[in-house]
Amino acid sequence: MKNSRSLDDLLPPVKERAMWLLNECRARGIDLLVTSTYRDLESQAALYAQGRTAPGLIVTNAKPGMSFHNWRVAFDVVPLRAGKLVWGTTGDDGKLWRQIGEIGEDAGLEWAGRWKSFKELAHFQYTGGLTLMQLAAGKVPE
Ligand SMILES: [Zn+2]
Repeated sequence: MKNSRSLDDLLPPVKERAMWLLNECRARGIDLLVTSTYRDLESQAALYAQGRTAPGLIVTNAKPGMSFHNWRVAFDVVPLRAGKLVWGTTGDDGKLWRQIGEIGEDAGLEWAGRWKSFKELAHFQYTGGLTLMQLAAGKVPE
């Protein structure tokens, strides 16, 4: 079971963009913590079970294979302010998240903070236009 926080577990074009995002944020005085990159199918199954057949709160709607994290093309970040994780989504916290999202988009990443359903401020991905089915079939983004 693997649930990685290392950028080395992302596909090269994704890692490249993630590093660009982290460096650009650092240059602007924003520190980011990477909380998740690659998750194997077993780890996704355990996460999906949480709040359903296992204790805890529901944290994902993605079954194994249905998360972009399972195909090494997605990662999650959380900003730090004065050493503390920022989880707020309104006011200054909301502004900070939006700023990070826009820097990610400048890096060529898709930011889930814009999604209409399952909006997720922490989530970035680079699929090169590939669907989950295509990724599952072994295609990789250029
Ligand atoms: Zn994510």
